[in-house]
Amino acid sequence: MGEYPRAWIVSVGNELLIGRTVNTNAAWLGSRLTLLGFDVERVVTVPDRVEDIAEEVERALGRARVVITTGGLGPTYDDVTLEGVARALGRGLKLHPRALEMVRSFYSRRGLGLTEDRVKMAMLPEGAEPLDNPVGAAPGAVVEARGTLVASLPGVPREMEAMFDRSLRPLLEGIAPPGAVVECGLTVRGVPESSLAPYIKRASRVSRMVYVKSHPQGSELGEPVVRVRVLARGATEEEARAEALRALEHVRRGVEELGGIISEEDSC
Ligand code: ATP
Ligand code: MG
Repeated sequence: MGEYPRAWIVSVGNELLIGRTVNTNAAWLGSRLTLLGFDVERVVTVPDRVEDIAEEVERALGRARVVITTGGLGPTYDDVTLEGVARALGRGLKLHPRALEMVRSFYSRRGLGLTEDRVKMAMLPEGAEPLDNPVGAAPGAVVEARGTLVASLPGVPREMEAMFDRSLRPLLEGIAPPGAVVECGLTVRGVPESSLAPYIKRASRVSRMVYVKSHPQGSELGEPVVRVRVLARGATEEEARAEALRALEHVRRGVEELGGIISEEDSC
């Protein structure tokens, strides 16, 4: 999809690596970032280890416009993401007064005071600003270095999503490219993916502004079901939609010529 601001996602957590937790956060963020106009270029999963987190964040600096980490912001000994981010930036961790106030008020509303482990959640990389956590205790953090915005979000999906939508999204909208991205698609029955392939290729060549992908869901022979998804960019939403529909026209023609049916349409 051409040259657009690049986004990397660094997912932190041993549980992701050992297959205990499915990385739904990366999928959710990938979709949001794409629709905001970013070119999501990497999802890297690392263990709860400072050096590994630092290594991947440092790699992103100066290359990605945005890198988002998820997980490891909590109060326990294995929550070391911000330490990793600080190391990547060559900075230290520092108690942030506003972050401390967020943590303090979260617990005081529940009749609890501050402890060493709770205060730890307000230790941010030097120069970082806290991101409000509308759902949980641990604030997120955002810091800019070498032209890269580094944002750290919690691991719990509900907290991560709330923090993204409430606090990070406005910042990202400020650096996202102008224009719009839309996504739509259709489901084809009765045509093997391999027969549809030349039409998909033609669809994807409609312009550099579209990305077309087929997802086989049934069996290739027998009862084939293929979902076709199109992402399109445009100066306006109307323009993006027009590009997407132009691409899908090729797929429709293929379905017609090959004697299949379109069983579902997701409009854009
Ligand atoms: P908390 O502040 O609640 O401790 P945290 O930022 O420390 O959150 P983690 O301890 O890394 O986050 O993860 C908390 C839980 O969130 C995990 O047990 C897991 O169930 C879930 N989780 C973590 N990362 C992901 C992910 N990438 N995708 C889906 N779920 C995740
Ligand atoms: Mg935790």
